Amino acid sequence: MAITRRFFCLCLACAPAGRLDAQDAPSPAIQPARELHGLVEPSLHVAKAGSGKPPRVALTFDACSGATDRRILDVLMAEEIPATLFVTGRWLNKNAETIALLKSRPDLFAIENHGLNHIPAVDRPGTVYGIETAGTPQAVAKEVEGGETWIAKAGFARSGWFRGATARYSISAMTAIEAMGYRIAGYSLNGDQGATASTRAAATRVTGARDGDVVIAHINHPEKPAGAGIAEGLLALKRKGVTFVTLDEAAANAAASAPTPAPTPATTPAAHPAKP
Ligand SMILES: [Zn+2]
Repeated sequence: MAITRRFFCLCLACAPAGRLDAQDAPSPAIQPARELHGLVEPSLHVAKAGSGKPPRVALTFDACSGATDRRILDVLMAEEIPATLFVTGRWLNKNAETIALLKSRPDLFAIENHGLNHIPAVDRPGTVYGIETAGTPQAVAKEVEGGETWIAKAGFARSGWFRGATARYSISAMTAIEAMGYRIAGYSLNGDQGATASTRAAATRVTGARDGDVVIAHINHPEKPAGAGIAEGLLALKRKGVTFVTLDEAAANAAASAPTPAPTPATTPAAHPAKP
């Protein structure tokens, strides 16, 4: 799909802080010596609607693994709220019922690539929040292509956006992924702190979305309190008259801004759970 960077403000600054979902981490403790530095965590906005107009907000939900949070999905469908979902191969493999629901509403849901096995798209060995990276350019490509294979297998259109696990990248990996035809999906508002936020905190965060924000949250943790707050926040935004757009829709209206590299140490809190 023809999407150009100039339609978005994409800067490689550290996005709003969240917190690592420790219980989702594959190992009991992060080994600081292997944590990679100099990674980037892109921030993304959509074009503002402007003063006097209803705020424009893009909602993005990651489905990393596990199940489906119907508290969120049901609100999206009942309230006719468009959203962009980033799905992994392993999530698609276990959520056939949700796939059918998503496919029944192509007017609401855009399906994008979150990778095959939720492995950080970093092309050198090490860890991000304790999670082993892909480690090589070939492994990064496999993660991206594998995710796309599952998207096709599920019957969705080819994705144009990629968001890697942990939402952090090496610059060279980002460049390679973009060369594969993807845009890197950053965000500007961390809605659920990697699905670890309390119900109240998640509701407050989402309700606070402003004109031009790209919200990240998770739709694969029905067992956690955050999802209830996300659902509550969605209803609040709807009451405010917010215009919801998918990332693709936003491309038609968003404004330009050149990226500014800003290496981010991988020791700040995560916006994205490591292995949710
Ligand atoms: Zn994820």
